[in-house]
This record gives sequence, structure tokens and C-alpha cells, in this order.
Amino acid sequence: LNGFSVRVHGVTPDELLALDRAHVWHPYGPMPGRIDPLVVTDAEGVRLRLADGRELVDGMASWWSAIHGYRHPVLDAAVRDQLGRMSHVMFGGLTHEPAVRLAARLVEITPEPLRHVFLADSGSVSVEVAIKMCLQHWRSLGRPDKRRLLTWRRGYHGDTFHPMSVCDPDGGMHSLWTGVLPQQVFADPPPAEFEHDYVQHLVDLVERHADELAAVVVEPVVQNAGGMRFHDPRYLHVLREVTLANDVLLVFDEIATGFGRTGELFAADHAGISPDVMCVGKALTGGYMTMSAALCTSRVADGISRGEVPVLAHGPTFMGNPLSSAVANASIDLLLGQDWRGEIKRIETGLRALEAARAVPGVKDVRVLGAIGAVQLDHPVDMAAAQRAAVEHGVWLRPFNDLIYTMPPYVISDDDLSQVCNAIIAAAAVP
Ligand code: PMP
Repeated sequence: LNGFSVRVHGVTPDELLALDRAHVWHPYGPMPGRIDPLVVTDAEGVRLRLADGRELVDGMASWWSAIHGYRHPVLDAAVRDQLGRMSHVMFGGLTHEPAVRLAARLVEITPEPLRHVFLADSGSVSVEVAIKMCLQHWRSLGRPDKRRLLTWRRGYHGDTFHPMSVCDPDGGMHSLWTGVLPQQVFADPPPAEFEHDYVQHLVDLVERHADELAAVVVEPVVQNAGGMRFHDPRYLHVLREVTLANDVLLVFDEIATGFGRTGELFAADHAGISPDVMCVGKALTGGYMTMSAALCTSRVADGISRGEVPVLAHGPTFMGNPLSSAVANASIDLLLGQDWRGEIKRIETGLRALEAARAVPGVKDVRVLGAIGAVQLDHPVDMAAAQRAAVEHGVWLRPFNDLIYTMPPYVISDDDLSQVCNAIIAAAAVP
């Protein structure tokens, strides 16, 4: 294979990169582009194939989503089958089996009182919808002052405006949008262990701001973009009790944690409680298509229905997209039709090999939960150099801040998983 002479749809990889640099935004990227992304031509199982012929084991599952790996025959067939019927149709005034079946399935597998499902098109939009549900609920009940949100620092909920307002206030987004973002109430980030002082801090804040709070919005059990921080699920109990006692709604953002990643189907299951609103996305479609959902209880929906405007004021063009719904149904069936708990346990055990990173100078901590593994350094990672080191070990990673981490597809073999762990340890050793 002659490296970079492989043409991708008639364009050489060099030409493609030049066009990319000139015209295409990447996540949090500058324009024109400065860093050359790797050109990926196709992917199968847990492997990404590059235009220069190299293959990389995907340690990222395309940001938590490709839980069954790429080109899974069952998911491919679900998309093809749905393509033969319709790829899209508007959802206003029309409905169809894939979306209705998906909504019913989500109600069945999420914690008990969640009952009504809004099928949106990205994680951020599902958080927007969740926040709208909460604000509209209180407005409809004649309490428009309840419009602020409480969250804990180091959170991440998406890049559109309302979700940005509940992202970490010390992060760049807040300084960029001073005066534009709604002013929310921030608690300290939850500690890993259960601490009574922290419980008191949470309870005090909710009680003090109850009259102006529409909801508490948090990532349960794992704060991912905020540093892959895990916390004791008992904090979720505390939030459930204090929100119920103070007429505040509780929103769980399970966009990253949903569908088994943490060892339970949803992170809320670690605490055995249910929020009033829950967002899912990413792995919902097995990473095949863009789709998310915001689920709410009858209490929240009833509030909205009693308002002057008794409808939920949101309706995107691609709502309930049939292709996304069909592949989401297939992905959920595939996940629940296997011993997914056993697979997550197997990956958790394999990821324990990361403990060896503790011997690397500059490594501060190693954390593993379910199918998530993270090595934290005592200094910022040289992202490009660490990524290069991983690629040299045949693994795709995306180091960030002081972290090198993985959330691999659940179908990863034990051998590939140890390759991922070795690559992380090598990346951590980059000076
Ligand atoms: N919430 C959480 C917890 C996330 O991890 C993400 C995505 N990283 C989002 C929200 C936003 O989802 P999306 O990128 O699909 O808009």
C-alpha cells in the first residue's frame, strides 16, 4: 500500500487535508485549521482505518457512543431496512413505528416514573429541552421566578447557550460569554467520597435559593469533561431528597453515562433513584446517528399542560428521525440481549492494568469505573505529543487537560484492551 497516495473518493489525503484546513471547523478548532487531523477512511469493529493504511484501536468509542463498535451487522441491517421504508419524515402531525417503539422502550428501561419522551437530535439540544421543560413547568404553575438552575462546578452539559450556563463556570466558555449566559447557582464539585460537610453545602444552597430555582441539573456519578471525576452515588440521594422537599426539579444528564457505561444501565441506578427529567444521547444509537432524548415524569408534563401555552415549545425538523430511531431500537435490543453487565465487568477488570501508570513520574491518580479508565497527571498533557505516542502504539486517544483516558467500545477484546492500556501508559510518560 503506497501510504498517502490512497485516494478518498477521488481526492488524495493531502488534498483532503488542505481543503479541511481551509474550510472545515473541528470541535473547539481555530480557522483556518492548524493541526492536521488523521484521515480515516473506514472503521470496523473497534478499528479505525487511516488513509495511510495504518489501523488504530479506538479507545474513545467516538466520544462514548460507538458501544457496539463500527459496522456492526445488526445495526447496519437496521439502517438498511429502515432506508427501504423512509429515511426521514416530519414529526409534526405524523408519527411512525420506529420513534414510538423507541420512546416506549426508553420508558421501559429508564427509572420508573419517567414517562414522556422528547426525541431530539443532539445531546446539547436534549439538555436545552430538559431545561425548557423545567422552566415551562414552573411558569405554567404561576411561579415564573423559579427560573435559575443549580449545578455543581466542573460540569459539562453541551455547547448551546442554556447548557453552557450550567457548564463549569471556571472554564473558558463562561469567560467568553460573560453577560450573555444566564447566571446560575454553583455548588462545589462533589468529592469522590461521601462527606457530610459537602452534603450540608448542597442542602444549604438548595434551601437558600429554592424560591428562584427551577431545577438542579447534574451529571450523575461521572463528571466527564470536567476531569473524569467520579463521586459517591449517595450524593444523588441527597439531591433527590432536598429537591423534593423544596419544590425544585431534578435533571440528570446521562448523555455520557447512559446505556451501561458505568456498570449500571443508567448512573441513576447506582443510587436507585429517579430524577424528574433525564437526558440521554451518544450511545443511544450505538453511535450510528445523531439522536438524543429528554424524558420527564407526568408531574413535569402535567405542569406544562396546565399553562397558558399548554404545549412544550420545541419542535426540531429532524425530531424522531426514523433512521436514528430504528438504529437506536436495534442498539438497545443488542445491548440488553447480551450479558452487558458481564462485558462491562470484564472491561473494568482489564482497565485495572492502568494501575501500572502509578509508577510513571508525574502521574497523580488512576481511576477506573465500569468501562471508563483515566490517568491523571500532575501537569497539563502535551496533547499532540501524547496523542502521537498513543498512535505509535496503534491506539486512538484524545488526551485533554491533565487527563489521558479511555471509554472503549464494549466489544473490545482483552488483547486490544491491554493495547489501549499500554498506549495510555506510554502517553502518560511523554515529558
Ligand atoms: N452532556 C454531557 C454529559 C456530555 O458528555 C455531552 C457531550 N460531550 C453533552 C451533554 C453534549 O452532547 P452533544 O455533544 O451531543 O451535543
